[in-house]
Amino acid sequence: MGLPEPPPLGASALPEGTFREQTVIVTGGGTGLGKGMALEFARLGANVAILSRAQEHRKAGVSAVESTGARGLGVACDIRQPESINAAFDAVQAEFGLPGVLVNNAAGNFPVPAEDLSPNGWRTVVDIVLNGTFFCSREFARRHLSEATPGSIINIGASYAWTGGPGFAHSAAAKAGVKNMTESLAVEWGPYGIRVNTLVPGLIPHEDEVKAIRGVPGRGQKEDVRAPAGRVGYPRELGWAATFLASPYAAYISGHTLVVDGANWQRRAMLMPEFTPIREQLGKGAFEG
Ligand code: NAP
Repeated sequence: MGLPEPPPLGASALPEGTFREQTVIVTGGGTGLGKGMALEFARLGANVAILSRAQEHRKAGVSAVESTGARGLGVACDIRQPESINAAFDAVQAEFGLPGVLVNNAAGNFPVPAEDLSPNGWRTVVDIVLNGTFFCSREFARRHLSEATPGSIINIGASYAWTGGPGFAHSAAAKAGVKNMTESLAVEWGPYGIRVNTLVPGLIPHEDEVKAIRGVPGRGQKEDVRAPAGRVGYPRELGWAATFLASPYAAYISGHTLVVDGANWQRRAMLMPEFTPIREQLGKGAFEG
């Protein structure tokens, strides 16, 4: 049987207009889960700014937001560059006012055996996931500290922050840093009215998955029987968790990491299945140096 299906797209647990006249930034909000979260904030009345590098992504995010009747704004930004973040926040603030919510969703990732991972590949993933999340959070907090206004930051994590992520050593290490940083920043910025939480998606397929992720052998096959929930997650389920965490109904929740994965990351078998080395799982031949 597995876990029940969620309510349909368009349903909401929060009162209509929960984010009316509020501005929400979603980094990487033009694709996949970021777009799914942007949509749920928009349904609840937020003005939503999508920060990302590719114009076609920003356009897709803005049109999803506007399809609900909310206001959307796409702003070019590379979250690895603090100056680019500063300029993007200026542009958002000029159009919509100071953002009250920041969703640090943007990420880069690809599967690779650790021995094949180049220094450039390692640096790029850590730079986007860990450094980019910090730079955006710092920009958000400094603006709120200057204005003495409250705010909420939601970082998007991954469960391999706890378990390690064989085949994804770069991303797993960076997400572990994000989870840890959430706890530090929640304490540092609580006195100024800023909450910081992390939201961890489970397996939530979407149409924008990049080729590298789509190409993981077995991805997209039998996903329902490979999780205790008996099903994958839906972007709207992450969107509902994000809007709750950012809402006044979660005003006393900070420094928390909420996992939305149907308990998949805790599973263990009484006897574990035979182990297949990562090179083999990725269909790679023997390491040749
Ligand atoms: P995705 O479709 O690959 O989206 C990544 C987004 O990040 C893109 O919109 C991209 O836009 C943006 N981005 C990448 N580098 C950037 C940079 N330097 N500056 C600004 N924006 C940048 O990813 P997703 O699957 O929706 O995942 C969203 C989040 O959930 C990520 O944090 C991911 O780690 C996490 N997650 C996903 C799953 C899942 O099942 N999908 C599971 C666990 C965790 P541009 O190319 O336009 O810059």
